[in-house]
Amino acid sequence: MSRVAVVGTGYVGLTTGACLAHLGHDVVCADVDADKVERLSRGEIPIVEPGLDRVVEEGIRTGRLRFVVGAANAVKDCEIAFLCVPTPQGEDGSADLGYVEAAAREIGPHLPYEAVVVNKSTVPVGSAKVVKRVLARQDVQVVSNPEFLREGSAVQDFLKPDRVVVGSEDQAAAFKVSSLYLGVAAPVIVTDTASAETIKYAANAFLATKLSYINAIASICEGVGADINHVVAGIGSDKRIGSDFLRPGPGWGGSCFPKDTKALLAIAHDAGYSFDLLAGVIAVNQEQFARVTAKILGAAGPDPQGATVAVWGLTFKALTDDLRDSPSIGIIERLLAAGCRVRAYDPTVSGPKPGLPPQIEVCTDPYAACEGADVLTVLTEWDEFRWLEAERAGALMVRRQVVDARNLLDRRQWIQAGFTHQGIGR
Ligand code: NAD
Repeated sequence: MSRVAVVGTGYVGLTTGACLAHLGHDVVCADVDADKVERLSRGEIPIVEPGLDRVVEEGIRTGRLRFVVGAANAVKDCEIAFLCVPTPQGEDGSADLGYVEAAAREIGPHLPYEAVVVNKSTVPVGSAKVVKRVLARQDVQVVSNPEFLREGSAVQDFLKPDRVVVGSEDQAAAFKVSSLYLGVAAPVIVTDTASAETIKYAANAFLATKLSYINAIASICEGVGADINHVVAGIGSDKRIGSDFLRPGPGWGGSCFPKDTKALLAIAHDAGYSFDLLAGVIAVNQEQFARVTAKILGAAGPDPQGATVAVWGLTFKALTDDLRDSPSIGIIERLLAAGCRVRAYDPTVSGPKPGLPPQIEVCTDPYAACEGADVLTVLTEWDEFRWLEAERAGALMVRRQVVDARNLLDRRQWIQAGFTHQGIGR
């Protein structure tokens, strides 16, 4: 078992630390946010992530998981230090390595002799070398171990991944990092650092491509009178294609895809390749936001100015509280710009929150959001929305119009309740 430090206790760092403790390692997690560290030390989870509370509680109880303020305090006795800090989009679209470099600068002087530093943050190709330089330590190796977890199923994804990727120029360091995952039944793919860094961006860009592709096909379905659900069933059953990430929706978003696709465009540009395919994928996504907004505005009545839109779902996907780059918020901003009032409900949002436009009226009940609404729209695929009653929602609304941008609702039930129902691609 290894002594591990994790720098950054966000979605990735907290999951990594808690799951590595679950696998038997001795883990110290650090954050700059003292309040967060105090809450975590009491077993309080600051984010919504199914199952994370149980692994954190287990780690604290067994003494294998501890939380400290400041990266330097976490790494003093470690053999392996994970960097799980943000890599936001920089002004030119490329990933901003500022947090990663700052963390490396902080831990450099405090790392034990021959420790290994692991980039788990999603970082541009060449970042392992940058971190090595910033650490200013000849004895320390830098390994790339990109993370593929999805918010909403992060613990499950970490403990049962499809694969673990370890990129290293040093065999012994690659072995040390791979050994951390001995309790995980997944193939470990060992590569050089540049390949590991490329794998992460290539994977996210491919998934975004699938989503833009199916949204484009959904638009064609609307034009030709086909049903996207049938089309997805028909093509997703082809093993070469697969049915994952083939659900049409309001456009993709979240804390990773938008910045990672832009970062890959920048990486390609720097490498002398014009990645027109990926530029198209991003453009199709922007069009999708506009198409869905137009549908909602069209359903809101002859004059959307002053119309009230009820929104179910604010987070970028279900089972998370993450609002970063949420398609729902992007569409709401467009609705507000068109002069609409927005009343919104989300199971994880109980009031104003950073990232939410302040004009939104946040309701703590899905039906309350429908009061006086001209149109209802479903923008996040929370399962509980499926079971809400069309009749009850309709009785509270001015007009019975619903735009289901996730194809989540039972269309028949809503039509029976007198709604005009519009989905995506059907
Ligand atoms: P996050 O914003 O949720 O968490 C980052 C944490 O790092 C914050 O708690 C912040 O306070 C802390 N931090 C920043 N600088 C620090 C420092 N010097 N010392 C200690 N703590 C510091 O971010 P996240 O969503 O966990 O993403 C982290 C990285 O993982 C990013 O590169 C992201 O692209 C990548 N990633 C994210 C996901 C995801 O689903 N969220 C999945 C795979 C990869």
